[in-house]
Amino acid sequence: MGRVVGIDLGTTNSCIAVLEGGKPMIVPNAEGERVTRSIVALTDDGEYLVGKPAANQAVLNPRNTIFSAKRLMGRRYAEVPDVIRSVPYVVKAGPEDAARIELAGELIAPEEIGAKIIRKLVEDASSYLDDAITDAVITCPAYFNDAQRQATMNAGQIAGLNVLRILNEPTSAALAYGIDARQNERVLVFDLGGGTLDVSLLDVVEPICEVCATSGDTHLGGDDFDKCIVDWLAMEFLDKYGIDLRNESQALQRLTEAAEKAKCELSSVTSAKIELPFITSINGEGIHLEKIISREKFEVLSAGLLQRCVEPVLTTLKDARCQASKIDEVLLVGGGSRMPSIRKLVNDITLGKEPNMAISPEEVVALGAAVQAGIISGEFDQMVLLDVTPFSLGIETKGGKFHRMIARNTAIPTRATQLFTTGDHFQRGVDVVVLQGESKRAHNNRTLGRFGLEGIRNKVAGEAEIEVDFDIDEDGILSVTARDLGTGNKRQITIAGTAYLDQQEVKDKASQAQKLAAEKQQKQLANVERQQAEYVLSTVENQLEFIGQAVPNELRSKCEKAMSALRTALGDGAPPKKLSKLKVSLELAAEPLQQIES
Ligand code: AMP
Repeated sequence: MGRVVGIDLGTTNSCIAVLEGGKPMIVPNAEGERVTRSIVALTDDGEYLVGKPAANQAVLNPRNTIFSAKRLMGRRYAEVPDVIRSVPYVVKAGPEDAARIELAGELIAPEEIGAKIIRKLVEDASSYLDDAITDAVITCPAYFNDAQRQATMNAGQIAGLNVLRILNEPTSAALAYGIDARQNERVLVFDLGGGTLDVSLLDVVEPICEVCATSGDTHLGGDDFDKCIVDWLAMEFLDKYGIDLRNESQALQRLTEAAEKAKCELSSVTSAKIELPFITSINGEGIHLEKIISREKFEVLSAGLLQRCVEPVLTTLKDARCQASKIDEVLLVGGGSRMPSIRKLVNDITLGKEPNMAISPEEVVALGAAVQAGIISGEFDQMVLLDVTPFSLGIETKGGKFHRMIARNTAIPTRATQLFTTGDHFQRGVDVVVLQGESKRAHNNRTLGRFGLEGIRNKVAGEAEIEVDFDIDEDGILSVTARDLGTGNKRQITIAGTAYLDQQEVKDKASQAQKLAAEKQQKQLANVERQQAEYVLSTVENQLEFIGQAVPNELRSKCEKAMSALRTALGDGAPPKKLSKLKVSLELAAEPLQQIES
């Protein structure tokens, strides 16, 4: 087995960590950065770029540059109108209304974008560590539902990894801190990433790290704060010039980048300048956009978003039956929590508790995931982690009611079995609708899947016995089984069939990705071979010229013959093996030149 890593697959940035000497450590990417932008682009030449190289060409290639794909993973098209409005690439409805991204005319699953990001992290880390990476713990927001978790798992598998665990991000952050502190503490984790807000309350009582409650908002993240600035700039521009820049994909991309940059600057200075020359043109004349935004203005624009951060914290505290004054430690996680307004808000809610940002908020989740990988692989056998399910799960019963089988914030893994019966005389089948949510009305909750159980023996209403079993594994992934106790008939639901890829597709895509990676490696190898062959060729050419008449005729013609063969092979684009062979022949032929030279 190769190295085991922790991966934070973020909406905006992703990060990979490994255990070195019992301590988690961030592994930098090939560009030397500790976090990698979660951006994937397809160039006109059909080449995939990931991270900074993809970000650098985003303005020129907005339709084929995919960011925030995590916001689409495991989601239905109808669930993501806000994402569709805010990105310049095209999102369409795929099979069973699953959100799909259009890239060069093809519809691809968002988890395939996730897989490309993971692959880059793993390939870069593997060459940095000079070791193979085979297994990983991958994190996801605690508030991710079953479909989103499964999509995260698929992304890891498509990238060719054995996914040891899908771990909640806030839990992961607490583990990163807990590994050193490990005192008896109640810890509030406030995690504002690019696309989601996660709040969790954990009890760290050595050696157990237990999640007491979790809440959040999957539609609230740093990107929304960027959007406030984008909307403000666009509205002012619309007023002045009558043009809505949000309808022009390149202009929208530039606006979004400038807004994010200004937002980040406003975390450390009180005003930021936004300059976008030639943002559009009117009657052939270029129009420039220049604006200064103060921190105060930004806080007014984002006041509504700030307000939305309050409820998940209060819900978490209420669910955990914990008063704000009883919190021992507040951990701020995610790049979004660098905003002073967020720090102040959390400080206010927790009655003046100073948040702990000792570990970089962008790195802490990956570090915790590496710790979890260590726990699973046996390196930290003393730590135990108890996580919870973020939603209530149940089935629909007569009259459109929601019957709860597992309450939210139940520790996982968990299992619940209950007996149900038929509502009508001689009913031959039942429809099992699996739901997730908190409403008593079934239609207000999210349908995870449905299946029928047929062949029930003729019985009067209330006599048949149908046993329904809900089983949630350590990754928070649910499977549901219904069994007719009269006949022994059994059906198990494959919830994974709804908004994401099925297992065969995941396997196909994983081998496709491996094939592409092998081709890429082959190409790189060919390039290296080519460069080396060209280098040897020019060295021998120079030697012959430098030594001149002193080269014996026989040796000169031997060298020239070998050079000519190599030149022809280079011209024909010969395979690396042949180039290598001809290069070695030339080196052997030219060996005596060195003695003459010296
Ligand atoms: P993460 O997913 O944790 O990398 O968080 C990404 C989000 O954090 C993005 O929306 C970034 O724009 C935001 N972010 C990063 N640095 C800062 C900063 N200094 N101030 C405000 N937001 C930031």
